[in-house]
Amino acid sequence: MKRCFWVNMRNPAYVRYHDEEWGRPCHDDRMLYELLILECFQSGLSWECILNKRENFRRAYDGFAVEKVASYGEEKIQALLADSGLIRNRRKIEASIKNSRIFREIQREHGSFNDYIWQFTAGASLLESCTEKTTSDLSDRISRDLKQRGMTFVGSTTVYSYLQAIGVINGHTPECEWRTLCESQTRRPDTVVTCQGCESECQVSVGWRNGVAVVLGGNNCPTGESFALSSLRERSCQG
Ligand SMILES: [Zn+2]
Repeated sequence: MKRCFWVNMRNPAYVRYHDEEWGRPCHDDRMLYELLILECFQSGLSWECILNKRENFRRAYDGFAVEKVASYGEEKIQALLADSGLIRNRRKIEASIKNSRIFREIQREHGSFNDYIWQFTAGASLLESCTEKTTSDLSDRISRDLKQRGMTFVGSTTVYSYLQAIGVINGHTPECEWRTLCESQTRRPDTVVTCQGCESECQVSVGWRNGVAVVLGGNNCPTGESFALSSLRERSCQG
């Protein structure tokens, strides 16, 4: 079995996370919520550290029931701060509660968080295995939107990592056997056009939503960069 090189094979929880969760299109609000909160706690730490504490988080955070977490007050904050199985950082704990309230607002506004987060790619996953990449136009955009709504600890790097976790971005490396598996769970693209950002004519899949080009996947541009979306937007004006 060939996996992404970064998987720590000595940690069964990490291997299981890579094999069963990471990069798979997730459409369940409860899991989308759990992963968002965990990603916010990760900021500045390793993901493995968070993963090792995941069960403690589930226990302390009422099984990640968003409506419960959204109602936590000072007493609960004190209890969380005293729990050595967690990340005892007051700012992050306060952020997790505030972000939960905003998560609920987004659910009310869009019907579900699933509908909200997947609208950015029209429901499809982007294939983006560039390993040195930690942010993108997409994560910049979503990060900005979440911050405007009042969330914190949702910088572009955190959001990029989150998008990989929930499968909006399929980040498995080309040699990883899970790359194809995740890809097969992705919706079919609307149309395929030639990349405008480099000279090798690589193909990208694009869907049109309200006159705006949305990249759906197949972005294997050898430059490792997102190609110029602006050139596609101009094309969309023509039809
Ligand atoms: Zn992989």
